[in-house]
Amino acid sequence: RSARGNWHERSRIGIMGGTFDPIHNGHLVAASEVAWVYDLDEVIFVPTGRPVFKLDKHVTNAEDRYLMTVIATASNPKFTVSRVDIDRPGVTYTIDTLRDLRALYPDADLFFITGADAVAEIMQWKDVEQMFDIAHFVAVTRPGYAASNPLPEGKVDMLEIPALAISSTDVRRRATHGEPVWYLVPDGVVQYIGKHGLYHAL
Ligand code: ATP
Ligand code: MG
Repeated sequence: RSARGNWHERSRIGIMGGTFDPIHNGHLVAASEVAWVYDLDEVIFVPTGRPVFKLDKHVTNAEDRYLMTVIATASNPKFTVSRVDIDRPGVTYTIDTLRDLRALYPDADLFFITGADAVAEIMQWKDVEQMFDIAHFVAVTRPGYAASNPLPEGKVDMLEIPALAISSTDVRRRATHGEPVWYLVPDGVVQYIGKHGLYHAL
């Protein structure tokens, strides 16, 4: 039975992919706002395995990123976390994420949520046409990033969300320098970073 009260309606599921190194309040606001505007029943956060666009960069191990994502989303009844990408060996391609989730939810309407910067890369993604067949794409505004590249007609919705100028890069840089990350990430994530000494020796 869906939130809209009709047992026969297809469920509406958001998919929020990311490196989440670490997850921050910008990710959470984006997911929350898309869930509200698109009347989603659930948003599944999917931490990447080895992100294809970050092969040249150091990325925190997948279990730490997964656990921080679980901690950050635990209080929201609509938010869940999937291990499909971190349990799949090798580099993460979004088409594989979408195929795996489509297989798990054959009867749901899927909404893939990305930031404006990720949308600029969409046209370079592997199997982009098949991705559009599996899911609707929703691109949220992100301070400091303009959606510059022309998008395929009618394929990607743009949604303005309350602006949070937060990036994981900035959170890592702050943690490395001992600067505060309170209120940029959920409290439990601040504590997880401290407890495990993440980002100390970058
Ligand atoms: P990094 O700086 O390491 O690249 P990030 O902050 O961009 O990290 P990602 O895990 O790369 O975080 O992002 C996952 C998704 O969330 C991407 O689609 C990204 O565009 C989007 N996103 C990240 N931060 C924000 C934000 N502040 N507002 C809206 N969308 C965001
Ligand atoms: Mg990014």
